[in-house]
Amino acid sequence: MLSPITLQPVARSECHSHANPDFAFDEFAENTPAEKYVVMNFLEGPRTVAKSTLQASNITRYQATKFYLEQIRNSGYWDQLKRIVEPSTQEFQSEGSLDTSGEGDNTVVPGLQHKYPQTGLLLTTDRCASYCRYCFRKRLVGEDSDEIAPDYARVAEYISRHPEMNNVLLSGGDPMVLSTEKLHRIMDHLLPIPHLTSIRFGSKTTAFAPKRLLDERLPDLFRRIIDAGKTPVIVAHFDHFGEISSVSEEAILKLRAIGVQFLNQSVLLAGVNDDADVLAETFARLHKLGVRPYYLFQGRPVKAASHFQVPLHRAIEIVRGINARLSGIQKTFKFIMSHYTGKIEILDLGEDQRVYMRYHQNKVADKIGRIFSRPYVEGACWLDELPANQVA
Ligand code: SF4
Repeated sequence: MLSPITLQPVARSECHSHANPDFAFDEFAENTPAEKYVVMNFLEGPRTVAKSTLQASNITRYQATKFYLEQIRNSGYWDQLKRIVEPSTQEFQSEGSLDTSGEGDNTVVPGLQHKYPQTGLLLTTDRCASYCRYCFRKRLVGEDSDEIAPDYARVAEYISRHPEMNNVLLSGGDPMVLSTEKLHRIMDHLLPIPHLTSIRFGSKTTAFAPKRLLDERLPDLFRRIIDAGKTPVIVAHFDHFGEISSVSEEAILKLRAIGVQFLNQSVLLAGVNDDADVLAETFARLHKLGVRPYYLFQGRPVKAASHFQVPLHRAIEIVRGINARLSGIQKTFKFIMSHYTGKIEILDLGEDQRVYMRYHQNKVADKIGRIFSRPYVEGACWLDELPANQVA
């Protein structure tokens, strides 16, 4: 709950303008004389907040690139897109978990998760170019986290012993904030492993800092992956077509031309993109760029971010609307709930008021593809809010 003592509105004159794109939370932290308090600009206005309250409430530090702020201002969708990076006081009241997918339980060596047989997920950094307010890894982004892989030799040794793993996803944080040299050093360990057939990079620099993808040394990294017989894949992260800049387009087309495959994942976000027209347009533009819409994620019940969740009933209506607007070759996405038990594709809300789903990914191969259902509860956003009268 908000505390009137630790979260006080302050006069605007005491603070930087909310419109200042150079605003950075850390500047306030350093410049505030009383060490225990900072002034933070929320969408609802500036507040003086105790640092301990920020920590206890898992309020992610503020950071947004100038490039991104300019892009979303000029997009005509500032009111929606600012919610992606600008903090809100709603974060203090948003209940949830800091590990909705059971990442801790699936960590096999420090920094490497092995939840599904074919895929390794590598936490390469705790930093991003900007921080999304809805991030499901807010337990680590912008922090000095001990979950980041400290020893890639150990990671490679594990993968070498697991021939069922055919691809590794570099994640974090955003691996593209690492230097190209650092990415090469990670490849030194991964590329000699014969059973890896693709190397994925999950990155929102495609939106936040696409100039990074125009680094003239980057094509050599991807050519090296290709020469090693693996497919380089960038999983971009665009939530709204207003984030797709001309620099994003240029970078994507250049990297595609040298053989990098592009997929896109989006998160369904209340107040940002919970609109069939917006998401259909986003997916259509990505398709035109050669970026295959891949996952649309149902928002997770993340502590300090669950206010972004859209109730399942409405979410399913939006997904129906997207599918009604797109051609077959454009609607290549799956609507996914990335649950502790696996990746669940949300199929429909039946006339019998049951939510129909199936496992897209599960540790247990036999569960994949099997349809199951649960009774719908008004307002439910997540599997755990639907009565478990049928085994999932
Ligand atoms: S870029 Fe990805 S990892 Fe970073 S804050 Fe956004 S969602 Fe989280």
